[in-house]
Amino acid sequence: MIHQTIVTLTGTGVPHPSPGRAGAGTLVRYGDISLQFDAGRGTVIRLAEAGIEPRDLTAQFITHVHSDHLIDLPDVAMTRWVQNLVNPCGPLTVVSPEGTSAKFARNMFDVFADDIETRQHHEMSSGTIEAAGPEINLVTFAATQEPIRVWASDDQTVVVDSVAVHHEPVTDAVAYRITTPSAVIVISGDTTVCEEVEHLSNGADLLVHEACRSTALGNLVAGTVLEAIFSYHADTVGIGSMAERAGVKHVLLTHLIPPPSSEVESLAFEADVRAGGFNGLVTVGNDLTTISFGPGLSKNEPIDPKAKYETKLDPARLTHVGIWRDELDEIGKEFYQWEVPQLPDRCIAAMNQGVRSDVIGIDLSNVSDLLEPGYLPLETGIASTPSGGLSVAVLTEWPGCSSEMIDWWFGWHIAKTDRYKLWHPQAHFFTQPKYDLSHLEELSDREKYRGNTSWVDEYIGPFPSRLGITFHDPAEIGLTEPQLESAGYGTVIYAVTTDSDHGNELSHLVHAVRRTENGCEMRSRFILPAGTPEFIGPPLLDHCWTEMTHLASFLPRLYRRVTGK
Ligand SMILES: [Zn+2]
Ligand SMILES: [Zn+2]
Repeated sequence: MIHQTIVTLTGTGVPHPSPGRAGAGTLVRYGDISLQFDAGRGTVIRLAEAGIEPRDLTAQFITHVHSDHLIDLPDVAMTRWVQNLVNPCGPLTVVSPEGTSAKFARNMFDVFADDIETRQHHEMSSGTIEAAGPEINLVTFAATQEPIRVWASDDQTVVVDSVAVHHEPVTDAVAYRITTPSAVIVISGDTTVCEEVEHLSNGADLLVHEACRSTALGNLVAGTVLEAIFSYHADTVGIGSMAERAGVKHVLLTHLIPPPSSEVESLAFEADVRAGGFNGLVTVGNDLTTISFGPGLSKNEPIDPKAKYETKLDPARLTHVGIWRDELDEIGKEFYQWEVPQLPDRCIAAMNQGVRSDVIGIDLSNVSDLLEPGYLPLETGIASTPSGGLSVAVLTEWPGCSSEMIDWWFGWHIAKTDRYKLWHPQAHFFTQPKYDLSHLEELSDREKYRGNTSWVDEYIGPFPSRLGITFHDPAEIGLTEPQLESAGYGTVIYAVTTDSDHGNELSHLVHAVRRTENGCEMRSRFILPAGTPEFIGPPLLDHCWTEMTHLASFLPRLYRRVTGK
């Protein structure tokens, strides 16, 4: 049986502390095998956060003697000793190049001699500490120019090779290559960009590389004390060229110099690697960044390629309806308009009528009825569904609009509250995309919203609502592209709505956009489960008709203004 190979950064920091970044470390898991590479500041805590305790480690590897890479090695080993009697696990296997870091490992318990002795006398009697002091099983090897095998699992399924790297004046600094049945992972340790790591990385699924923005920041540090630091670390642009030559599929940057403190600063690291010519995946590491390979996952891709653009919804967000004078950008100034169209009589009549019993509403079981030519008995109004739920139907006219414009709108507006407020200025007050993809020019409009979640805060009638609207491919409910095309539809927006505070599912919504002689029409359906109170129907109908009709009144101008098309 082949397992997943799971790589987790236990620390992405450097000697100078920065919030949220523990010291250097990478955990590689395959089945029951857990291999930890380096043990910088905070390693035991980060391991616990990743679900691993020192007693679970199969082996601990060291890249070199710098304190930011092994200051917590004694913590890993002593914690395991403290755990050993309760959960027998034997001494920690430490794999290190012979030389300075091996010497550190041999001597590291010395400074704890008094603590160890006191602990032994105090806790031995209660049976929680064994009589013998902490031990390690130290395995050393010579750091060599050509890769050598330094470790293998008992069944030989997982093997680790090592090669000497260039971190002079530090001696005996190495990189590691871990080969499992599901992935090849290379960990650079600290080094300048070098041929040794390039060869070791040949064809690797993942290269975990230390990163320093030398090219970008070289002029700023010239002549300062930082120049020495920059001189023996890996330039981000150089990493990009090297990884491309080596055919690496995914680069994961760690040991970040200078440590980024914002998304913008992180993206600069990625831009450097791209500038070096790298075409594969790039992830700028944070503590506990995890990338998996193997069964159940498409190989060489992170669990979700969008994951790095994921945002966190602020639970305490302060929001308001309307726009204050200085809040608008140029587009907002031009298109924000407080007044919205008045509801037509047919909508008011449909709202007054309430839930109709003479027609059946659309739900997921009969949604393909929308593919029939012409109109259904209920196009604007509220009805029960075959399963006893509620279906709210709204028909809106979009003269002068195309389905391309509507797809563009859904990809564009979800990025910013200002844009969302244009749509229904009297009801919309906040939006945030779960994945901030708006700057990715290579994505199509549909790719920006399908698979994404738009968190919105809005009034539905008098009810303030905090919703998560997750857009899906309409093929998931049987509305396939060829069927839609032959039925005259340009696009269908299909989404599942949840309560963004609690995550429970509320409704499904379908906006089916069909071409007409002078533009298009939208046939909207909100599908609510049995038990939904009927009083939500009329305000939902009002809200949908108003926002869609209002948007249709300026969408062609807005589309031209923003896209230039
Ligand atoms: Zn370091
Ligand atoms: Zn170092």
